[in-house]
Amino acid sequence: MRIAVLSRNAKLYSTRRLVEAGRELGHEVEVVDYLKCHMNIASMRPSIFKGDVELSGFDAVIPRIGASHTFFGTAVVRQFEMMGTYSVNESVAISRSRDKLRSLQLLARKGIGLPVTAFAHDTKATGHLIKLCGGAPIVIKLLEGTQGVGVVLAETKSAAESVIEAFRGLNANILAQEFIKEAGGADIRCFIVGDKVVAAMKRQGKEGEFRSNLHRGGSAELIKLTPEERSTATRAARVMGLNVAGVDLLRSNHGPVIMEVNSSPGLEGIETATGKNIAGTIINFIANHAKSSSTRTRGK
Ligand code: ADP
Ligand code: GLU
Repeated sequence: MRIAVLSRNAKLYSTRRLVEAGRELGHEVEVVDYLKCHMNIASMRPSIFKGDVELSGFDAVIPRIGASHTFFGTAVVRQFEMMGTYSVNESVAISRSRDKLRSLQLLARKGIGLPVTAFAHDTKATGHLIKLCGGAPIVIKLLEGTQGVGVVLAETKSAAESVIEAFRGLNANILAQEFIKEAGGADIRCFIVGDKVVAAMKRQGKEGEFRSNLHRGGSAELIKLTPEERSTATRAARVMGLNVAGVDLLRSNHGPVIMEVNSSPGLEGIETATGKNIAGTIINFIANHAKSSSTRTRGK
């Protein structure tokens, strides 16, 4: 097969591993910087170019679209789909997962465990918003944040009010959430390929830190999932319509709750923690599922 990894940087661990694993399995793999592509949006013969070279003949693409380039990146994925190229994660599913609020609403609709979450634009009802989340302490998040930036734990009602006011002053969208104290500063990353959790790790925030992000100094270790955690993670990926996903969940008193579903989950942390060849698993999934023009909208 001919596979394109849509990535801005061929040197990134995840990109390198996908190229390496694909070649080991006998496929032709190329890295395509999606920001350097341009497209011809024609109904008869949609095409895509890098410089003046037409990109054609790919059987599959693996999108690794950066969070800050969702708009253009998903347009490139969509163009490949229009050309009949199989994308392991579809453009609609990627867009869906990039909108935290939309994702939470879709997951809630399917009855998947979530922390109690409230969302508002106006700050007049702050008191009620805090009450909805069960009162302080609560977690307040910037909707656009990643890697734990813009995630704040407000210990008291007045702290919560100040944070909400400050964020609103920046004209940012915010989300307030029940604080899952019993998670103890740890979350679980479930790596999904197809309908299975192929690897899982527990990430623990550094001493005194409630955020478990590796970028914030957290550490990762192997973990064994309960059947309920496994099924929550696979259902979450299915609702989002993602074949490859990183599902983050917390262990709460009311069962596993979803933090987020990532459509370009990093391979470095999970391959290092588990010693598994996840890149190879992704390539094999593609080899078994890629059919020309098999693009259809998944997800609920
Ligand atoms: P980001 O997408 O920026 O990583 P998250 O919403 O995943 O932001 O939050 C980062 C980390 O903060 C989570 O992985 C988790 O460890 C912690 N966290 C977030 N929300 C809660 C919550 N409601 N209760 C307890 N811990 C939380
Ligand atoms: N981009 C990384 C991932 O999605 C984030 C890892 C982290 O900060 O915990 O796997």
